[in-house]
Amino acid sequence: MKPSLKLLDYSILQQCMHCGMCLPACPTYDATKKERHSPRGRISLMRAVADGELKLSAAFADEMSYCLGCLACQTACPAGVDYSNLLETARAEVQSAGLNQTFTSRFWRTVTIRGLFMRPRLLRFVGRLLWLYQRLGLQTAFRKIGLTKLLPKDLRRLEPQCPTIATKFSPQLIRPVESPAKKQHRVALLTGCVQDLVFADINRDTADVLLANGCEVHTPPVQPCCGSLHAHNGEADAAKTLAKRMIDLFPPSQFDAIITNAGGCGNHLRHYGSLLAEDAVYAPAQARRAA
Ligand code: SF4
Ligand code: SF4
Repeated sequence: MKPSLKLLDYSILQQCMHCGMCLPACPTYDATKKERHSPRGRISLMRAVADGELKLSAAFADEMSYCLGCLACQTACPAGVDYSNLLETARAEVQSAGLNQTFTSRFWRTVTIRGLFMRPRLLRFVGRLLWLYQRLGLQTAFRKIGLTKLLPKDLRRLEPQCPTIATKFSPQLIRPVESPAKKQHRVALLTGCVQDLVFADINRDTADVLLANGCEVHTPPVQPCCGSLHAHNGEADAAKTLAKRMIDLFPPSQFDAIITNAGGCGNHLRHYGSLLAEDAVYAPAQARRAA
């Protein structure tokens, strides 16, 4: 079943009590001071769509896209509004309605979200090429002589934000299983996708902290993306596929905890229950009992 605001548990849409406590936390509201660019405004728009008072439109799609998905509003909200669930549902609906899509946006979505971020080995290979490009000084040289100005407009805008790729990725720093002197817990360590390419040293530090606290750390060298990128960008089917791969890799019954040091991944892992609630095989026992 395609995600839809109309089909979403209505109690989630009703959670917002319009108090405005989230407004100061929201960067898009801070930038424009427009209500429709605030969490409260967006929730009202989503509810209007769910109630049939507002049609899915390019303007609605724009508004959902303008949200950064940072979830600062969720932390600030005293009513515990499940904003990430609302945003993911709205974006998935916008995506399946094909709103505001151009040839270029479809192309980049296919290359990145549906391509690279579904294939961990390929992602590492591209990461290694990017590392070489940076390490050989080509990035600095191209910037200096202005070659980056020849990039298409959107890429040109993003190019300065290209992160520095790590020299070693997680499997070169962390063994698949590492044991402490006295084992008290058994945990799985999620290395992440971008986290692995850019902050593999922090993954190593995380493993060290876990070992120092008596955890046997399991870190499979090849791990799928957790699917947060896909869920946050309206790719609900891909998000479900990746969630299932992750559960297969880290069966929750075999670990005391699944550890991640990436905030977006951590938040998304906690939503696997609702994401897979309708799946006959993967729905958590709790969700099946509740159904
Ligand atoms: S996710 Fe971030 S940008 Fe979006 S409404 Fe919440 S605080 Fe604002
Ligand atoms: S999202 Fe939360 S903090 Fe923001 S207006 Fe609604 S209830 Fe208040």
